[in-house]
Amino acid sequence: MDKKNRKAIIAGNWKMNKTATEAKALIGELIPAVKGAGCEVVICTPFTDLATAVALCKGTNIHVGAENVHFEDHGAFTGEISAAMLVDLGVEYVIVGHSERRQYFAETNETVNKRALAALNAGLKVIICVGESLEQREEGVTEELVRMQTKIALKDVTKEQMKNVVIAYEPIWAIGTGKTATSEQAEEVCGQIRKVIGEVYGADTAKATTVQYGGSMNAKNCDELLGKADVDGGLIGGASLKAPDFAVIVNAATKG
Ligand code: PEP
Repeated sequence: MDKKNRKAIIAGNWKMNKTATEAKALIGELIPAVKGAGCEVVICTPFTDLATAVALCKGTNIHVGAENVHFEDHGAFTGEISAAMLVDLGVEYVIVGHSERRQYFAETNETVNKRALAALNAGLKVIICVGESLEQREEGVTEELVRMQTKIALKDVTKEQMKNVVIAYEPIWAIGTGKTATSEQAEEVCGQIRKVIGEVYGADTAKATTVQYGGSMNAKNCDELLGKADVDGGLIGGASLKAPDFAVIVNAATKG
């Protein structure tokens, strides 16, 4: 199975942007802009926008995701949201382990794994983020680091559950900085991630798993990045907040 047989996914990560009122307006622009997409289109929104997003996207080709999930089912975890709460709302995807969560909210490889398992066990699809800092790239440890992040995030995830797993390679130095990884850098690390998946789950799972690139992908650089053999889509931050730009990226993924 090659790239053409894998599901290309373009997922927007809205981060802490858009009130529910603003979300309504953006989704209103997005629906007609991406309706002809030949790839899977996902918008991951703040918790407060999810109900609005699910209602507005019903019957369209836009899938809705959250930006985080807690690993416990319920209980005394003030301010947290469980996987069951997301499922009940009609949410389909969730981002786990974004570097901003790791950096600002003490997320570790182990908690990323726990969140991924909780989400998968509840029937959600997960987008697991991995990626190195600039210092780690300069020290030449990108491959080891990304291998380790991927392996730990997937601990106890079954081969069957891998059908609901997407890995997003997001070099930290490229997120929100305007500095994009070159298409060769993106391809190299996405290929290494696919290799680790193959070592753990076998070649068939490695070939079937969607591996995205994320980090300042935009309407100008998306063709080049998405044209690479091991890059099956993108996790898009800033450019997902502008419907015309997001639509250009969706169309680029449709071409492959
Ligand atoms: C992200 O937040 O996952 C991301 C890739 O952001 P940006 O596209 O803004 O770099």
